[in-house]
Amino acid sequence: MFIPTVDTDKCIGCGECVEVCPVEVFELCLGCESCVEVCEQEAITVEET
Ligand code: SF4
Ligand code: SF4
Repeated sequence: MFIPTVDTDKCIGCGECVEVCPVEVFELCLGCESCVEVCEQEAITVEET
């Protein structure tokens, strides 16, 4: 299982991560890390649990 985390201090709310995520960020994360790559603020980390 993968858990994506957004650092709210870095996030500017651009919505790019939601656009790119195949499953809408935070729901049934696949661990693809597309959101990590697209985020210019480097606000997202994905952790495997
Ligand atoms: S791509 Fe990064 S900065 Fe943009 S909304 Fe997502 S977490 Fe926030
Ligand atoms: S790692 Fe992939 S599936 Fe998980 S939240 Fe990011 S874009 Fe979505």
